[in-house]
Amino acid sequence: MDVHRSLLHWLKHAADAYGDDLPVAARTPRAPVARAAVVPAAVVPELVAPAPRKPVPTPAVAASPAVPTPPALPPIELPDGLDELRDLVLSCRRCRLHEGRTTVVFGEGDPRARVMFVGEAPGAREDETGRPFVGAAGQLLTKIIEKAVGVPRASVYIANVNKCRPPNNRNPEPDEVAACLPYLRQQIRAIRPAVIVALGRVAAHNLLGTTLSMSQLRTMDLSYEGIPVVATWHPAYLLRQPEAKRDTWEDIKRVNRLLGRPEIPPSNAAR
Ligand code: SF4
Repeated sequence: MDVHRSLLHWLKHAADAYGDDLPVAARTPRAPVARAAVVPAAVVPELVAPAPRKPVPTPAVAASPAVPTPPALPPIELPDGLDELRDLVLSCRRCRLHEGRTTVVFGEGDPRARVMFVGEAPGAREDETGRPFVGAAGQLLTKIIEKAVGVPRASVYIANVNKCRPPNNRNPEPDEVAACLPYLRQQIRAIRPAVIVALGRVAAHNLLGTTLSMSQLRTMDLSYEGIPVVATWHPAYLLRQPEAKRDTWEDIKRVNRLLGRPEIPPSNAAR
């Protein structure tokens, strides 16, 4: 054995005998030891404490649809008499509906009427003429008054919640109703009818301060300041849904009972 081979042999023997205490330069190279695939979590902090999450933006809480609150209007002094009230309303500018109107439609009929019909707002024909319910729906209302109640149209009183025509016949906005409703209330106080007939949802809701459906309201005993109210379909709806006329016939029979009249007018009962 030559000197070089002897030295190697001695080094191998020493490594086996002393292990890692042997000076580095004297260690025999070892095959790399495969590390365990699973590293203890305790020594890998990022596995113990989860990595911080990206902040999730908090979704904005969806606001529930706001119930429109009309802005407060200055109180108005209203005259007791219908004529004086009419004079006041004809020049009214309390809401934006005055901008597009041709005429204010105050209302018409017998100031001592026992039954008062209340609609929503004037349409095109009413805006032109200044009279309530004179278009196609108005002609149907006249038939209801004459055939189902059995009295001339001139013996009842007819008015609307809003006295000026909304553009394109849209429903009046809450602030427009709030501006105009004092006039209707004063008309009712002045006339003091025995029965009020609310024609359609808009009239019934604003007069009674409810959001119940017309199907519910039609079956209920309603009142406004102690005056019985009967809610029925608007004549314009009856023109679109003629089958609902049967409902209106029943509603008007209730009106007649409340008035102390025959449910069916004698002129129709004979037919
Ligand atoms: S709708 Fe009524 S409150 Fe509005 S301007 Fe006409 S009368 Fe006045």
